[in-house]
Parts: sequence; C-alpha cells; structure tokens
Amino acid sequence: MVAALTSESVRLADLQFEPFIGEEEIRGRVTSMAAAINTWDLGPDPLMISVLNGSFIFAADLMRALPFTCEIAFIQLQSYDGTRSKGEIVMEGARLGVPVKGRDILIVEDIVDSGLTMYYLIRELQKRRPSSIRVVTLLHKPEMQEFPITLDLVGFTIPPDFVVGYGLDYRGLGRNLRGLYRKTGEF
Ligand code: 5GP
Repeated sequence: MVAALTSESVRLADLQFEPFIGEEEIRGRVTSMAAAINTWDLGPDPLMISVLNGSFIFAADLMRALPFTCEIAFIQLQSYDGTRSKGEIVMEGARLGVPVKGRDILIVEDIVDSGLTMYYLIRELQKRRPSSIRVVTLLHKPEMQEFPITLDLVGFTIPPDFVVGYGLDYRGLGRNLRGLYRKTGEF
C-alpha cells in the first residue's frame, strides 16, 4: 500500500491523519526560504546542521534550493515519544565530524514545539565557538513553546496539532508522505 501518493486521509498505526499542507505549497515555501537565506550575510561555506531524523527531507530540498556552496552535517536528537514530548533530550551520534569553530551555522529543524531540542542544541554548539548560529525550521508551534530561543526563519506557523509527512513520522511511519498531514482521530 503506497500511502505516500494519496491526497486523502491516511492511517498510520493507530492514528488517522488528514491532509494539512500540500506538496506544492511546501515546495514554494522552501524556495522562498532559500531566497531569504541567500540575503543573509554568511561567510564562505556555511555549515548546515540537519537535526535527524525528521529534518532530512526538508534539509535536502533546502540545500538544493540554495544558490551558494555549503556543507551539511547531521546530528541525532530526540525529545519525542509517540505524539508527546518526553521533556528531555537524547543525543545520539553526537559527533558531527566537521569543525564548527569560526563558522556560520544554519541549524535545520523540521518542527519547533516546546523549543527544548533547539535550546539544548544551540547551547551545545555555542561551546564549540562558531561565528554565528541561525535556526531555520519548517514548522513552528508557537502556542507550545516554553524555551527561550530565537528562530531566524520559519516555514509555516501552525496550531498545536500533531503532524506527519515530509520527513516527520508517527512511530517511524509517514516520513515519505509528500505533503504534511495532521492527526484527526484514534482507533
Ligand atoms: P521540541 O523539543 O521543540 O519540544 O520538539 C521538537 C521535536 O519534537 C521535533 O524535532 C520532532 O522530532 C518532534 N515533534 C514535535 N512536534 C511534532 C509533530 O507534530 N509531529 C512529529 N512527527 N514530531 C513532532
């Protein structure tokens, strides 16, 4: 069954999701986000840091839309368990494998909810003395935010619904949905 190609509601494990933000709208927004980043005063070869797992598709599309060369590194952080924040950060694969000192960093996140993940990551990266850190997130749930962080670029501001698709999952499923979907019910 290829749930990835339908524009109808989808079921993932015990939850039902309805279409929320379509593929075309996402593509347009990613293009305009890349144009906005291109106006920033960044040094040569800025470093994108993609927060796994959820941001891998957004980071790939955003990077290809950027008209300048940049590097990418990945870091795995987890604060979610099912559809809820655990309130703590689990940091796996924390070795970035690239130098951070003196560089302009673009953190690329899929979604900022409480802000804990970003708060933690920014603090960790600051210890490595980069030249600057900017945060780019596809989605932001401002009503849920508890931690004081500055978001430099937000794709879509959304209500506090649980969403999947375009890299975001529920129990490991739904990442390959081309659009974004939001939770409507349980089974
Ligand atoms: P925060 O640390 O800001 O509370 O949560 C950020 C992380 O929680 C995101 O990187 C993502 O992994 C997860 N998350 C938050 N909201 C959602 C959501 O609506 N859907 C999915 N799939 N993950 C979410």
